[in-house]
Amino acid sequence: MKRNRHAQGHALDSRDRYAGSYGPMNGAHNTTEKVKFMALADSTLNNTEIRELANSIRTSVPPIGDTVDVTALAVANEFSVRQFRTKPGIQSFIIVDDTAPIKGLPEGEITHRLIGYSLISNSADRRGGIGHELGHFYLHKGNLPVIYDACPSPGAAKYTDAKDETANDQAELFARVLLIPAKEFSDRMKAELNMAGINEADNGTNHTYIKTTKIFQSLGQRFVMTPRNIAQRVSDDDPEIKTLRLQYPFLKGIAETYVQDVDSNRIDTNR
Ligand SMILES: [Zn+2]
Repeated sequence: MKRNRHAQGHALDSRDRYAGSYGPMNGAHNTTEKVKFMALADSTLNNTEIRELANSIRTSVPPIGDTVDVTALAVANEFSVRQFRTKPGIQSFIIVDDTAPIKGLPEGEITHRLIGYSLISNSADRRGGIGHELGHFYLHKGNLPVIYDACPSPGAAKYTDAKDETANDQAELFARVLLIPAKEFSDRMKAELNMAGINEADNGTNHTYIKTTKIFQSLGQRFVMTPRNIAQRVSDDDPEIKTLRLQYPFLKGIAETYVQDVDSNRIDTNR
């Protein structure tokens, strides 16, 4: 009950709308504990420092192909990583409690750190969600003994309303840099543009838009991230990606339009 006392002490919950419940899916217990999620303070790191942190963490964990095993990274940080029935619109959540075990987890498992992802997640959503929650862990936990946060799908209307918008944006940046390495991303993007016959002086016509969004999907499969994640990566300020944008000036506009189209459901993909 320590955790509940702690929760009440925090004048929760300005974000009741994010409050979700979770319960183990394997039937080990029947308890379903209601958790009220709390806002996380923004990190004092700027975006450059966040990228440096994510890059240094990536080089410390085993690679899978061009990128990293994000679940292994979570486990190395003592997280249980599990699928849960989350509230509609919630893609993933994090609970860290160094004061008491999290209820409802099977015995013998790590019970003080949990990353959960929605039952309806596909592999790209799952990977992005775990990376996002690790972003909260690395960027926003600080010395706090207890944090919990529930995170809507990126681009969802609720997400843009969120009071912790900055913290969520920081967690998204962390996940993109961790899981879509800048050099591999830039190299693959150039190769795919070449293969599609799109040259540097292209003026971003509708035809180019369609071919480029297919590249976002193909790179999404390669990195096991959503095409929306790939399009957003185009606008990040890693040196290699800045160089890519200078070389292909039309790319940023197409990427931004694509993200808007996905968020307004004009493109009905798996994001
Ligand atoms: Zn979040």
